[in-house]
Amino acid sequence: MTAGHPVTTDLPAMDTAGRLARLRAGLPAAGADALLVTTLANIRYLTGFTGSAALLLVTADQTLLVTDGRYRTQAAEQLDAAGVAASVALTIGGAVVQRDAVVALATATTGIRLGLEAENISWAAERRWAELLGATELVPVSGVVETLRQVKDAGELARMARAAVIADAALADVVSLLGTGATEQEVALALDTAMRRLGSEDRAFETIVASGPNAAKPHARPTDRPIETGDPVVIDFGATFDGYRSDMTRTFCVGGKPAAELARVFAVVAEAQAAGVAAVGPGVVTGDIDKVCRDHIAESGWADAFEHGTGHGVGLDIHEAPAVGQGSTAILTPGVVVTVEPGIYLAGVGGVRIEDTVVVTDQGCHPLTGFPKDIAA
Ligand code: ZN
Ligand code: ZN
Repeated sequence: MTAGHPVTTDLPAMDTAGRLARLRAGLPAAGADALLVTTLANIRYLTGFTGSAALLLVTADQTLLVTDGRYRTQAAEQLDAAGVAASVALTIGGAVVQRDAVVALATATTGIRLGLEAENISWAAERRWAELLGATELVPVSGVVETLRQVKDAGELARMARAAVIADAALADVVSLLGTGATEQEVALALDTAMRRLGSEDRAFETIVASGPNAAKPHARPTDRPIETGDPVVIDFGATFDGYRSDMTRTFCVGGKPAAELARVFAVVAEAQAAGVAAVGPGVVTGDIDKVCRDHIAESGWADAFEHGTGHGVGLDIHEAPAVGQGSTAILTPGVVVTVEPGIYLAGVGGVRIEDTVVVTDQGCHPLTGFPKDIAA
């Protein structure tokens, strides 16, 4: 799924080389002297390597990437392309060779505290490392690389913007299918195909096309239900460009005239979403963005019909830090990318969700996703 070759692009370069230094600077506060990185997206972020199996050991003054023979050429090329080939040692081999290389470097300095990525590593794996590393103290480390990943550099933002532009164009290509008798699955497939044709590496996640009563299920999977006139249709999808994802939801009403209660649902969600986006800016606590959306929906009488968080960070992963939910405490800074996606879901009737992916700027934010919010389709 991940491309083994660098994406040819006119986009600005990413500052991969600066990330290892920032990680090292953050380790003491996390209670560690070194970190064994096992989360593949974190390894990609720190080195540019996109293979499906690897370990990265970052000590106070050395960095070691180990992977297997499938990636011998790719790993060297990607470290080079990322500008870190001179500072990251590479060991290629089977499991024992990789393990021995990690143990040798981790035990080269006695008395260090070696951090393991607590959110990622299994209990069994932790036990194995404890056995192999003997006297080296293992400490759980959470979210250190993920915190760095929240703030996107110009190269990352350009890739996310490209993914969003591809998704916008793909939706424009397929929106005319709504109301022609096409099923949810047919619309989803057409959207996925359009994204690939327009340059997306893959879907950012499994595309949601949910019509009529299915629109009341926030994470419905596309079915063989034909989409009919009067249906609300929730379409939630994204593209991926050079590893970076976009995320957008639009809800259409086939024929443009939602029946009865749904007409007001469309209006209230649009107002809540616009208010949420307007609340995004530097220094803002993410829980307050959720509160703006949730309060508006509650004042309109649908407090119980909005049962998910307002948003999330996006980047190499479709869901990453910071969370934008009830009680979330993250504080936004320029360069952080989050979604704002309130919704109202009425069982048996339908639902509406509207979602944009926005970048925090010095002043407020600007959206990466740009498809118009007209409900007629
Ligand atoms: Zn989404
Ligand atoms: Zn989302």
